[in-house]
Amino acid sequence: MLATNEPSFRESVDLMFNRAVRLMDLSPGLEQKIRVCNSTYTVRFGVRLRGKIETFTGYRSVHSEHMEPVKGGIRYAMSVNQDEVEALAALMTYKCALVEAPFGGSKGGLCIDPRAWDTHELEQITRRFAYELIKRDLIHPAQNVPAPDMGTGEREMAWIADQYARMHTTDINAWACVTGKPTHMGGMKGRVEATGRGVQYALREFFRHPEDVAAAHLTPGLAGKRVVVQGLGNVGYHAAKLLSEEDDCRIIAIIERDGALVDENGLDVQAVRDWMSQHEGSLAGYPGTGLTPDGAAALELDCDILIPAAMEGVIHQGNAARIKAPLIVEAANGPITFGADEILRQRGTVIIPDMYANAGGVTVSYFEWVKNLSHIRFGRMQRRAEEARSRLLVEELERLSSDKGLGWTLAEDFKDRFLQGSDELELVRSGLDDTMRTAYQSMREVWRSRDDVEDLRTAAYIVAIDRVAKSYRSKGL
Ligand code: NAD
Repeated sequence: MLATNEPSFRESVDLMFNRAVRLMDLSPGLEQKIRVCNSTYTVRFGVRLRGKIETFTGYRSVHSEHMEPVKGGIRYAMSVNQDEVEALAALMTYKCALVEAPFGGSKGGLCIDPRAWDTHELEQITRRFAYELIKRDLIHPAQNVPAPDMGTGEREMAWIADQYARMHTTDINAWACVTGKPTHMGGMKGRVEATGRGVQYALREFFRHPEDVAAAHLTPGLAGKRVVVQGLGNVGYHAAKLLSEEDDCRIIAIIERDGALVDENGLDVQAVRDWMSQHEGSLAGYPGTGLTPDGAAALELDCDILIPAAMEGVIHQGNAARIKAPLIVEAANGPITFGADEILRQRGTVIIPDMYANAGGVTVSYFEWVKNLSHIRFGRMQRRAEEARSRLLVEELERLSSDKGLGWTLAEDFKDRFLQGSDELELVRSGLDDTMRTAYQSMREVWRSRDDVEDLRTAAYIVAIDRVAKSYRSKGL
């Protein structure tokens, strides 16, 4: 439970902003311009469902338009409110600046329990919400480009793209009005897993820096690390699966709405996810491992890495002192309140902040938007040319070897891999990996080079705010 003296989500983001900005040299006017949310549009609309009119409330906030389009997901949850949407929009501004995605920050939300409606009803509701935003240019390829967030996914993005196309029949760039679409509608391979994969790449980069690993009092190497994950939705599932399958991490606990599964030997992430999809999202009855009903308590388990990947405010002043993980990766947005962040910092916990850790989604969304505007899939022009050049090299090496009687032979699997040109998925992963490495390095440089910067979050804010400030200054502000 959040303590009553805990700041709201938006206040938490502002307090973190203030902590960083105190260490910078910005005029008070510019500081305030960057901090405030430019606008929030609230819409209430009716949809005839099950024989009566249901009224829904939705929001679209634009935090900063220093670059356009502005970018940010659309969330479907009962807890959606203006404060939350504005906090998330602000985080989008800083996140895009940190990973150098050329967007301002925005976010949207609809107060709805998506599980309470069937697919056809959700389509009606989504199309109506999209209609309200599109007619005000709050969804637009050049001005405001949403993406999935909690409670939404490819299906909702496809409805939004189609709704936009119906309302702008001659806009050749219509599909660029939203990202996170299915691949058959201009979506990008690797987008669904992108945020979780970004978490994996963030951890890999963290473990490339022995000093940083030592700051978290962890032994070198990601392999064998004991991980607790909260939320097995889009972000948490992919992060947990990739870390366990590709980096040999042990997922010792998975926390969901109805409790936690704990197994020191490591859980089979795919099996847990399959169980959830077959049992309406519940972990109850999962074979072999009993469900601990107090999920929140599992955040306090002894582990190496804690990955909150569900929602905001789950680590607060009430439980922060009991969190044992020496390293927390904020896969969700805002999982640690400002008060909890202060407690954890004092205890020496290393936190890889949300604006960096979950930036994989917006990074691949950026690639998708570029692909939609260029109307061609990445790699289509180069792939076979790349293959032909590699083949030339291999053939020449083999010819030289045989002419000179050297008897060299290239291993068949090396040849196969070397000869293969990069397809779209490979290019997306390469771009994502590069982005996550570069952003970490820019953040860490500030953390490591300045005595007055104690943590990665403050460093991330400094890098991001500095870039936004430069952009505003160039515009004459
Ligand atoms: P999702 O709806 O796919 O998954 C959320 C999961 O958390 C669900 O499985 C849900 O059952 C679980 N959950 C909800 N309340 C919980 C609770 N109290 N305790 C434990 N589990 C709980 O959402 P998502 O897209 O994975 O987003 C999760 C977080 O990541 C959000 O903070 C979101 O803003 C952030 N995020 C998502 C993306 C993205 O690409 N989807 C990108 C950046 C950040």
